Amino acid sequence: RQEQYRALRDVPAVTRDGVHIGLHLNAGLLIDFGHLHETGAEGVGLFRTELQFMVAQRMPTAAEQQELYRKVFAASGGKPVTVRTLDIGGDKILPYMAKLEEENPALGWRAIRIGLDRPGLLRMQLRALLKAADGRPLKIMFPMVATVDEFVRAKGIVAREKAHLSRHGHRLPSECRLGAMVEVPSLLFQIDEIAREADFLSVGSNDLMQFLFAVDRENRRVADRFDPLSVAALRAFRLIAERAAAAGCPVTVCGEIGGRPLDAMALIGLGYRNLSMSPAAIGPIKAMVLSLDAAAVRATIEAEMARMHDGDSLRPVLTAFARAR
Ligand code: PEP
Ligand code: MG
Repeated sequence: RQEQYRALRDVPAVTRDGVHIGLHLNAGLLIDFGHLHETGAEGVGLFRTELQFMVAQRMPTAAEQQELYRKVFAASGGKPVTVRTLDIGGDKILPYMAKLEEENPALGWRAIRIGLDRPGLLRMQLRALLKAADGRPLKIMFPMVATVDEFVRAKGIVAREKAHLSRHGHRLPSECRLGAMVEVPSLLFQIDEIAREADFLSVGSNDLMQFLFAVDRENRRVADRFDPLSVAALRAFRLIAERAAAAGCPVTVCGEIGGRPLDAMALIGLGYRNLSMSPAAIGPIKAMVLSLDAAAVRATIEAEMARMHDGDSLRPVLTAFARAR
């Protein structure tokens, strides 16, 4: 199997009916970038910057952050990297930061909320990224966006940092694209507005499912209580794909779901054309894409979603579809 997947490294990920699917990597540490070459992924679709902060003994200084990102961009060998700003809080604790006593850390002071309330930290990271890009194109996305206003404020902070750097004679990225993670369900009901404001969207299905079904992503006892291939979940994924396409806003799925062949097949059927996943998933997903008829899976999903009731899962039907290919 591994051999088989390795042989696919340079084969373009195109379905039997000619639909190209962008396969990207999720990365967190510099060593992960070695997988870019090994897997033939098109780029890094999710760079989780908090990992480097979590393994550090203390908060990296501005200069250290810039150096980390410089190495990251060098290691990507010219392939695009979508950098996510610090997603700390919740289950991601920095050992050198005072631990907050919160009843519900997943719903607490975390990610972009900290970034907006303590803009010094966010500004330092953004400045380090803008400098480290050193004239290359830069893609930045913000985690746990719950309202369009939060995203607009984050964009304002980026604009101020860019202005500051150019005033001081620094070279800016040739292009700076800003995206929002879609992982808080409230964004589903502001999807047209966020798709207009953002240069791209990235669906964080791990958190989106956790919050949509009120199922703690770390709690095994409740893990099986919902299915991401249920009609309810697929409607959420479909809404995002359709509204983003209508707004001309590119959208990627970067949660674990994109790395599971059956689930990824469903996402393609719903219109997703870019998936970001762990390195080990690239081979199996590419093999699935190569054998897939995108129009056929789309037709199957549409028909089944129209026929089925909320809560029903398309898993059995899609499993049968996958076997019959
Ligand atoms: C997600 O929530 O799906 C996601 C990609 O981010 P993380 O797993 O880092 O929360
Ligand atoms: Mg998340």
